[in-house]
Amino acid sequence: MMIVMKPTATEQEVQAVVDRVQSVGARAHLSRGDELTVIGAIGDREHVARLELDGAAGVDRVVPISKPYKLSSTQFKHGERTVLDIAGRKVGGNSFAMIAGPCTVESREQTLETARAVRDAGGTLFRGGAYKPRTSPYAFQGLGQEGLRLLAEAKAETGLPIVTELMDQRDLEQVLEVADVIQIGARNMQNYTLLAEVGRSGCPVLLKRGLSATLEELLMAAEYVLKEGNEAVMLCERGIRTFETAYRFTLDLMAVPVLKELSHLPVIVDPSHAAGRRDLVMPLSLAAAAVGADGIIVEVHPHPEQAICDGPQQLYADEFGEYVERVQAAAAVAGKALAAV
Ligand code: PEP
Ligand code: MN
Repeated sequence: MMIVMKPTATEQEVQAVVDRVQSVGARAHLSRGDELTVIGAIGDREHVARLELDGAAGVDRVVPISKPYKLSSTQFKHGERTVLDIAGRKVGGNSFAMIAGPCTVESREQTLETARAVRDAGGTLFRGGAYKPRTSPYAFQGLGQEGLRLLAEAKAETGLPIVTELMDQRDLEQVLEVADVIQIGARNMQNYTLLAEVGRSGCPVLLKRGLSATLEELLMAAEYVLKEGNEAVMLCERGIRTFETAYRFTLDLMAVPVLKELSHLPVIVDPSHAAGRRDLVMPLSLAAAAVGADGIIVEVHPHPEQAICDGPQQLYADEFGEYVERVQAAAAVAGKALAAV
């Protein structure tokens, strides 16, 4: 149930509703938007209904949320979109986020060189993995703590906030020291203990869609983060498994408008991991921007042919400025501008 308060409701009236919701064993999730204060009552629907909150002081109306995901649903925010503030940079609304960087942190030189190229091209956030989910246990697994240290150095030099993946909750504390956004990879989308842990951390989360996950499963995964009181979640479409074998994954661009219909959370597209091929990254990025994505996460490397992983899909750092200009023009078609610093 969603309890929408009147714009004139006092602090005491809001608190009284929260107390009553909690008195029947339900969780009260308070959300203060620009225009509306809404209390999500998550628990036994019958118990909450019996409180007859429509008549309570300060309450405008009580609306049932029909979807299995509640806090991430459009209904919960009454159509208002979530705009995240990542260290002063906006993600969502009219702001288009350009998240870019190497697949993995390999060396100081490679990391700093890429970060400078991303900054110079007007990138919003810098991505780079210190912990890598690899299909083969024999493949490079990331530099770990040394990688985090290099990301911190890139942030200090360029001012770009950092997006980096967390695979194991035992690394959370160290990742939090550098991450402005924690990435949860496709393979961990349904790692529910990890999701709850990053939810409790309060750090913004970029949640990737699982390789074979439905949109409902993605939104249920987001719910695990939101339920812990962390509202800063962006969803990421990165390609799914289909019967098609001509390319690595099928980038499901229809997911963008549909997710935005179902949820108030920003939607990011990853063309790099979907395609697995550099030449497809530009057309997919243009399409993603034009279809209304709130941003793109893309892989960039100074020397992709020497990259330790995902070389064939990484853009050349010295061509990145031109790429950003073209994607920006496509985003403008959908009414979005690159997030200003
Ligand atoms: C990545 O972004 O580095 C990555 C491994 O992506 P995914 O989890 O989508 O495969
Ligand atoms: Mn990669």
